[in-house]
Amino acid sequence: MSMNSLPGQHRAKRFLLQLYRRELIPHALLFSGLAGVGKKALAHQFAKLLNCRNPQENDCCDHCDACRKTDANVHPDVILIQREGAFIKISQIRELRSHLKFAPFEGIRRVIILEDAHRLNEEASNALLKILEEPPRNHVFILITPNPQMLLPTLLSRCCHVRFQPLESRLILQELVEGEGLEPSSAQKAARLSLGSRDRAQGLSRGTLSRWQELTAGLIKLPALSVSETFQFVSHWLKNTEDLEEDLQCIKFWMRDMVFSILLAGHDPVFELDAETLRALDQSPVEALFEFYDDVESAAHHLTLNANKQLIVEGLCLSIRNILYGKGHRNSISQVRQDLPL
Ligand SMILES: [Zn+2]
Repeated sequence: MSMNSLPGQHRAKRFLLQLYRRELIPHALLFSGLAGVGKKALAHQFAKLLNCRNPQENDCCDHCDACRKTDANVHPDVILIQREGAFIKISQIRELRSHLKFAPFEGIRRVIILEDAHRLNEEASNALLKILEEPPRNHVFILITPNPQMLLPTLLSRCCHVRFQPLESRLILQELVEGEGLEPSSAQKAARLSLGSRDRAQGLSRGTLSRWQELTAGLIKLPALSVSETFQFVSHWLKNTEDLEEDLQCIKFWMRDMVFSILLAGHDPVFELDAETLRALDQSPVEALFEFYDDVESAAHHLTLNANKQLIVEGLCLSIRNILYGKGHRNSISQVRQDLPL
């Protein structure tokens, strides 16, 4: 595997190669973009190129001692830092700093890859900032993150920003069919729902898709449930979810499918919208769906702020009643709240 054999990300690759050819490698790079679009893989291949003993035109040789060691994750000058628990901690940056006292052991450059750089805690961020303020010679830091806005602005300003694009849906489809052996129609659904993220597509192909179908089928039945049944549904959802953030993303796709089904004749929905759902949609103004879409976005935001998951999910379930039945109906939120035993 080499840089050019990685699928997609042509712009990012072209930019990195230009830096390499002109010998203008910055001491800190920031790779940002959706999770699962190839940031870490490209950082790894770029580290290989930077240390390759026999670089070819525009790429590493993939065969020299340095390339093989990097591929086996045993190159002493290619360091990967990952979070321990929820954060990258100060102790990890201190340990890194002790390595930096010495010149690269056998490589041309020492490459430090920080995965999930937005997970640097405050102390660790400040310690890293100090290193980047006086960067050691022949060292390249590659910070990887899907959320660059969560990094310290002072840290961001020290980095050369490389933005990664979502992968093309045809590349994901090809991988799912040829690599994962997925049946084409399921692969197509997963590719459409992946939004260009290989990680999400693979998760979908491993069973998330059927769980999402089950989730949306449950959501559409919510207005028919009693309040206590609704809370049982919430508990079941929270107990069985692997990733609530992804579930909220799924609900957004589902809403989008519904809006398109109302507005666009001949829209091919990803989710199965049965006759009952379509009938309910017929009576719901599109504006109410947009409002609910905003509710989901705000729920996702609250989730990133560590808000109570139970309350987030309950709020969403209750507002679905409003969309499908309209405010003031006996099943709508206000009425349900009045029905709650005090
Ligand atoms: Zn090589």
